[in-house]
Amino acid sequence: MNVVDRNFATRTGEILADNPVGAASYARLQSQGTNVVFVNDPEMASMGTFDPNANEVTVNMALHSSPDEAASTIVHEATHQNGFFNGIPQNTQYTEYQAFRNESLFQNGVRPTLDERMNIWNDVQQLYPDLPQGKYPFGGQQ
Ligand SMILES: [Zn+2]
Repeated sequence: MNVVDRNFATRTGEILADNPVGAASYARLQSQGTNVVFVNDPEMASMGTFDPNANEVTVNMALHSSPDEAASTIVHEATHQNGFFNGIPQNTQYTEYQAFRNESLFQNGVRPTLDERMNIWNDVQQLYPDLPQGKYPFGGQQ
C-alpha cells in the first residue's frame, strides 16, 4: 500500500462541502459516526467500500485520478451507508443503481433524466451481473 496524498484527501473534503449533495452525504456519514478512510492500495479491486460492521467508508486513491472522482465515490458509498442504516441490505443491483444515481445528481446538480437512469441501470447490470436484481427501478413488471 502506498502513502495517501494528504492534499488529495483535503481537496476531496472541500469539494464535498461545496456541493449540496456532497454536504448532505457527508452529514449523514457523520450523524451515524461512520469513519471515512483514505487508502492507496493498487491491490484493492474497488474504488470504494462501505463496511457496515466496521461502520467505515474506504476510498481507494489508487483508482482515482482526481479529488472530484473521490468525492463522487464518497457520495456513492454514503448512499449505501444511508440505505444500510434505513434497514435495507446493500447487496442488490437496485441499491447499486441508487448509489450511481446519487453520484449523477452530485456531479450534475440535477436529477438524471429517464434515459440517463436507464443507462445507469444498464451499466449496473453489466458491472454487477452476480448481484440479485432487487427492486426494478422503472415500475411495473420487468
Ligand atoms: Zn456500490
